[in-house]
Amino acid sequence: MIVASLRWRTVSDACLFCSIVAGDLPASVVAGDDAAIAFLDINPLTTGHTLVVPRRHVTDLLDADGAVAEVSPLLESTGRLLVDRLGADGINVFQASRAPAGQTVFHLHFHLLPRWSGDGMLNVHSIRTQVREDRDTTFARLTG
Ligand code: 5GP
Ligand code: ZN
Repeated sequence: MIVASLRWRTVSDACLFCSIVAGDLPASVVAGDDAAIAFLDINPLTTGHTLVVPRRHVTDLLDADGAVAEVSPLLESTGRLLVDRLGADGINVFQASRAPAGQTVFHLHFHLLPRWSGDGMLNVHSIRTQVREDRDTTFARLTG
């Protein structure tokens, strides 16, 4: 339930990340600005795995209402921070919207995953899943 709405802040009473934004739950916050904060994931997939979240509550990309643009400066600067301070060789950005896509915390967040050459983590090009229809059909459905 949405309980308050300010210029940059819409807070949800039962949301984990709203509680972190409000300072009611501890987190290892590494960067922040007026619109967003960046903190270390509690269960990192790689060293420095960081979440960038808008300060206002929106649930996901499909409910973002401009929040993606608001978090983008911090997303960029946090990516550079991870490379500069941790010596990462690259970064993956990952975002899950809705449960079928793997979302477990329903406050929009972007995963920043620092990567190192030969770190053994899966690359998206090596993932093989079943594609449900041929590309021409998909193209026609999107543009027809
Ligand atoms: P999702 O599955 O929604 O894309 O990602 C949620 C992420 O939030 C997970 O990677 C999980 O480890 C992280 N997470 C869940 N609870 C907490 C918490 O209390 N603190 C922090 N820092 N991260 C959390
Ligand atoms: Zn929230």
